[in-house]
Amino acid sequence: MKYDQARWTDDESEGYEPLLSEKDGTTVDTDDVPLPEGLKRDSLSLPELSEPELARHYTRLSQMNYGVESGPYPLGSCTMKYNPKFTEDVAANPAAAVHPDRSPESVQGTLELCHRLEEYLGRIGGMDAVTLQPPAGAAGEFAGILIAKAYHESRDDERSEVLIPDAAHGTNFASAAMGGYDVVELPSAEDGRVDLDALEAALSEETAALMLTNPNTLGLFERDIEEIARMVHEVGGLLYYDGANLNALLGRARPGDMGFDIMHYNVHKTFATPHGGGGPGAGPVGVSERLAEFLPTPRVRRVSQSDTERSSGRRPRDETDGEYELFEPERSVGKVHGFFGNWLVLIKAYAYIARLGDEGLDDASAKAVLNANYLAERIDYEVPYGPFHHEFVASADDQDAGDVAKRMLDYGVHPPTTKWPELVSEALMTEPTEVENRDSLNRLARAFNAVADESEDALASAPERTAARRIDQTEAARDLRLSWHALED
Ligand SMILES: *Cc1c(COP(=O)(O)O)cnc(C)c1O
Repeated sequence: MKYDQARWTDDESEGYEPLLSEKDGTTVDTDDVPLPEGLKRDSLSLPELSEPELARHYTRLSQMNYGVESGPYPLGSCTMKYNPKFTEDVAANPAAAVHPDRSPESVQGTLELCHRLEEYLGRIGGMDAVTLQPPAGAAGEFAGILIAKAYHESRDDERSEVLIPDAAHGTNFASAAMGGYDVVELPSAEDGRVDLDALEAALSEETAALMLTNPNTLGLFERDIEEIARMVHEVGGLLYYDGANLNALLGRARPGDMGFDIMHYNVHKTFATPHGGGGPGAGPVGVSERLAEFLPTPRVRRVSQSDTERSSGRRPRDETDGEYELFEPERSVGKVHGFFGNWLVLIKAYAYIARLGDEGLDDASAKAVLNANYLAERIDYEVPYGPFHHEFVASADDQDAGDVAKRMLDYGVHPPTTKWPELVSEALMTEPTEVENRDSLNRLARAFNAVADESEDALASAPERTAARRIDQTEAARDLRLSWHALED
C-alpha cells in the first residue's frame, strides 16, 4: 500500500507527522514504516454472533428509536416528511457512485444530472442560477452571505449590517455573523409578521441584506413581501430567502417572483432526502442573474453544440444532447465544499422532484398546508396566530413545553419542536407534513389533547414507556457512544 508523504511516528503523542517536505511528491511504501506501538495488538476481540442474533440485535436497536417510519413526526420547521424508498434505489445504483476525481468527459451523465437538478431547483425557486455545493441549509446561508458580500464589494459598496427578524432560525444569525456582519434583530409586529415600521427604521446604506423565512417560523405568510422587497432594494440591500419552509409554497409561489435575490433549499426538508445528525444533507443555493458570477466553484454548464464542435472537432452525442463541463464563475466566492457537494443526497432530491413532477409538488404543498390547518383545529392547546401555511405554533401555556414533548413520547408519537420561536410562550411548533393521513393526524391530536389534560406530576416523570427515560440531552449530543463496547457497559 502506498501512502502519500506521511507516516505515523512511534511515539503516540506525536501522532501524524509529514515524512517528506510538502513539495516533494515522492510516495512512501507504508509496509516499511513501523506501526506505532500503541496501535499494535496481538488479538482482536470481535463479537461472535450467529445471523439470527445479529438480526435481532439490529432490529432491537431500531425499535429503541423513533423515526418517520415509526409514526407521525411533526417536528416544526424541520419538515420531517417520509423519504420514499425509490430515491434510495436510485442513489444505490452503482453508476451513481462516480469517483470525484474522474475527468469531466468521463462523467457526462453525472454532470447532466447536476445540471438538470440545478434547473429544476432554479425553476421551483424562481432563481436564475444554482449551486449544489453547500452541505446543509446553514452552509447554504453562509455561502449566500459570502455571495452578498462579494456582490457589494464588487461595487465598492462596503456594508456592515444584516437584518434578521426575531422569529428567525438561529443559523441565520450565525451565518451573518460568520460572514463578518453586524446582526440587527428586527422585532416582529403584533400579527407575528415583519413589522414594516421597524424594518423602515433599521434599513440604511449599511444594510447588506435582509434574511427572511416565508412563510415564517410561525407558519405565517409575509403578505407584504413585495413591499418588503421594494424597501430593501431601495437602499441597495439584497433579500435572502431561508428555504426551510419552501414545502408550503412548492408549485404555487416562488421566492424569486417575490423579489428574493438569494435563497437556499433544504433538500432534506422539502425534497424528501434524509435528515442527518448535522449531515449529510444538502443546501443548494440559488441566485438571481446579477449574482450568478459570484457562485461557488465549480459550476456545471452545457457546452453549446457549436462550441463543442469547434473545440473538439467532434459532434456531440446526438442532436439534442450537448456536452457538459465544469467552470469557475468569474468572481466566484470559491469552494464551499469538496467536489459537487453531498452528491448521493442530491441524487435523491433529483429523483423525488422528477417522480412528483409539477403536479405532485403542487399537491404536496396543498396537503402540507391542509394537514397543518386540520391539526391546529383539533388540538386543545391555544394557537395564538393564524391562518397558517404548513406549520403552526401552539402554546403549552401553563405546562412546560419540554415536559409535554417527553409525555407525548409515551403516547407513541413524536413531539413537535419546543420552546421556539420565543414569540409564543412554551411553544409547540408543529408541522405534520403532507405524508400524514387523517387517521394519523387524529392520533396526533389525541396525543396532544391527552397530554393537555394531565397534571404536572405526570408530565415531570415522563417518558415512562421509552427505551431511555430522561437523558442529559447536551451530553447525549456531545458524547456519542457508537461502539458495541459502550452498549455492553
Ligand atoms: C432547518 C432550518 C435551517 C438550517 O438548515 P439545516 O439544513 O438544518 O442546516 C435554517 N432555517 C430554518 C427556518 C430551519 O428550519
